[in-house]
Amino acid sequence: MHFSRHNIFSKLKDSEDYFIVNILTGNADILDPEEGMRVEKGIFSDKQQYIDKGYLIEEEKEEKLYKKAYLDFVDTLSESEIQIFYVPDYSCNFSCSYCYQGEYTTSVPDGAGEKEQEEGLNTIEAFFSYIVREFAGRKKYITIFGGEPLMHGKTAFGRIEKLITGAAQRGLDVAVVTNGYNLEEYLPLFEKGNIREIQVTLDGPEGIHDKRRPLVSGGNSFTKIVSGIDAALAAGHRINLRVVLDRDNISYLPSLAQFAIDRGWTESANFKTQLGRNYELHTCRGGRGELLTRTEIYSELYELLLKHPEITQFHKPAFSVSRFLFENGELPNPLFDSCPGCKTEWAFDYTGKIYSCTATVGKEGEELGTFYPEVSLNREKVAGWENRSVLSIPECRDCSLQLACGGGCASVAKNRTGKLASPDCRPVKELLEMGISIYSKMEDI
Ligand code: SF4
Ligand code: SF4
Repeated sequence: MHFSRHNIFSKLKDSEDYFIVNILTGNADILDPEEGMRVEKGIFSDKQQYIDKGYLIEEEKEEKLYKKAYLDFVDTLSESEIQIFYVPDYSCNFSCSYCYQGEYTTSVPDGAGEKEQEEGLNTIEAFFSYIVREFAGRKKYITIFGGEPLMHGKTAFGRIEKLITGAAQRGLDVAVVTNGYNLEEYLPLFEKGNIREIQVTLDGPEGIHDKRRPLVSGGNSFTKIVSGIDAALAAGHRINLRVVLDRDNISYLPSLAQFAIDRGWTESANFKTQLGRNYELHTCRGGRGELLTRTEIYSELYELLLKHPEITQFHKPAFSVSRFLFENGELPNPLFDSCPGCKTEWAFDYTGKIYSCTATVGKEGEELGTFYPEVSLNREKVAGWENRSVLSIPECRDCSLQLACGGGCASVAKNRTGKLASPDCRPVKELLEMGISIYSKMEDI
């Protein structure tokens, strides 16, 4: 009998209490200070209770549970829906201070000749043929991505129309990731397809947003994006509002939350939010001093939530599995792999190339194959992605956080170490210290 290697045990932030979480056995408890100190020393007042919850477990039983959980994970993965990104163009009408695609090649400008326009449409046709053939029998949907896909003008409009109508003809939903500037103009076109969700980015209230996300021409974008969101919600679309956070704008989160509340967005069942972390991907134009680590960002969020609990009407930060635990009254299933690349996520672009995901799409050297004009796939490279999990990353094998972390982002790991099968560690313990502490104090979550 041993203290499970999947126990995550620590003290809650700003409290004398402790917590113990075991994702493999699905149990979590808050322990009072005396009990916590005893457990820290390996003393268990009611040993049977710890055995019943799997915090104390036979090695062999733990191994069996682990194997079964892994098989269940693989089963679920094989039945999961695939998100297929398509980039019709890498150009963009914004010049965001932190854009990681800043040095990517851009494509045909608007007003391109007939030939380029036709080529763009032929590539989209080839894209549909490829995904219908290669992902036959799998649930799937398409996400239109960029650059900025909803650009002004005939060339961009023609490609988006082809993607939306082509998806509708094949019974596929479409999601759109946009900066929101031309959203309103595109809404009538969206009527031609099944639009599942529109992701729009706002980086704060007006002043800070406009500073971070100006037009290439230098103009402001906030007011037009807000009108687009209003119009999309009024037309019955789902909006997923993304806020990209770093040191420069995180303190503005309470005022952005208040703006969304006052605007009536947070009352809509069609409105949801996500917080993105501005992090180093490949090519970044801005200075990097403003980046926050995951622990730093969550520490800031923790302090902000204490001072402005109304933020939770706008967004409830995940703090690893904490939010899930308090919202659902149970832990999520073990996460053997947090990277969907080449499993439930793929990315295709207008040049006819195939990539693993949004972090690699358009990056030289990351292509896995082509779908136009020739069809080819580097099976060996794909297998590298498919096989990445906490079982294949040597550093993860004995890590107690593995079933909450899942090994992190493969692209970030590869950028750092040169290897896909390397870890991108998540500060799971620190996030649980904060998350369980804050959500256990909130009545309604
Ligand atoms: S490499 Fe990173 S961005 Fe790409 S699918 Fe994996 S986790 Fe997501
Ligand atoms: S990536 Fe790091 S924290 Fe995550 S499971 Fe692997 S070793 Fe643990």
